[in-house]
Amino acid sequence: MIRVGVNGYGTIGKRVADAVAVQADMELVGVTKTSPDYGAEAALRRGYDLYVAIDDRADEFEDAGLGIAGTLDDLLDAVDVIVDCAPGGVGERNRPTYEAHDTPAIYQGGEDAAIADASFNARASGEIGDVGSLRVVSCNTTGLSRLLAPLDEAYGVEKARVTLVRRGGDPSETDRGPINDVVPDPATVPSHHGPDVNTILPDVDVDTAALKAPVTGMHTHSVNVTLGGEPTTDEVRELLRDETRLFLIPERAGIDGAGTLKDYAADIGRDRGDLWENCVWEESISVEGKDLYLFQNVHQEADVVPENVDAVRTLATDISREESTARTNEALGVGL
Ligand code: NAD
Repeated sequence: MIRVGVNGYGTIGKRVADAVAVQADMELVGVTKTSPDYGAEAALRRGYDLYVAIDDRADEFEDAGLGIAGTLDDLLDAVDVIVDCAPGGVGERNRPTYEAHDTPAIYQGGEDAAIADASFNARASGEIGDVGSLRVVSCNTTGLSRLLAPLDEAYGVEKARVTLVRRGGDPSETDRGPINDVVPDPATVPSHHGPDVNTILPDVDVDTAALKAPVTGMHTHSVNVTLGGEPTTDEVRELLRDETRLFLIPERAGIDGAGTLKDYAADIGRDRGDLWENCVWEESISVEGKDLYLFQNVHQEADVVPENVDAVRTLATDISREESTARTNEALGVGL
């Protein structure tokens, strides 16, 4: 059993905790909270041991009647791998603590690539040797890496150009925006997302431009890839259909956007309406000569979750990534 802790029980952390808890070869030892808020209560109600992320706040949990199992130091001593899911930049501040405990760590995409020995995507990363830390790349980078890797393997990617229409904030982020505009963000082009893809696929030429929109559900990518060959539209559709973490939305389903996608996910019983897969509109996939066009949506709260599970196995075992991906998919029910 791989003993796993989650430091930071927010949007990503609570989902990673749930995903770890259902893996047959993993034990979720516990999760941390910085304050005794609704998330702390929810973690306890889900049966997870709660640890206090900041030592001198233990009394606040006691006063709120929320029992804690210990401090972050106690958690780090009890686990084989810690998954840092603190806000972007806080992982860097947590790193010395993990290193002091000699605890292998996984960081998230809000951190600089330099924080870890390697950046990680289960489908697209090259060979990862014996490392002590990994960074699971951001939701957008995860979505682009999963898509570009099979295209590059099958045909070669001469150039990818992607426009990212990003959600303004997550549904629980009441302080984010914009609320009535669509803004270039960053206004400089190309954006930083392309170079981040290159931490996973160093040889793929990809330029990105990004906007922020007043929506909370998902990111939308408008993708144009100049391929090294001239496959037919049907050949590309079949190639992408074979990828377990890509969902080709059939035209007959009547799914026209993030609202219907999330409705579908909830209707089929996905916890929190989560979509772990890239959602690619099948009818949008079209090839004109060497140019491929498509639209995909990425559920920012969810697509990195199975990747974190595979990152845990990569750090703690010598199980192949194919085997890990299969185990994760099976335990979670990834694949639509
Ligand atoms: P979040 O704000 O929802 O959750 C972070 C949690 O960490 C909160 O519960 C917060 O109280 C807690 N925290 C704050 N300081 C802490 C500390 N010192 N130690 C431990 N916990 C602490 O953030 P999130 O959206 O889950 O993002 C976490 C990471 O995942 C970031 O690097 C982010 O860039 C990345 N990420 C986020 C998304 C997304 O869309 N939300 C997608 C992919 C990757």
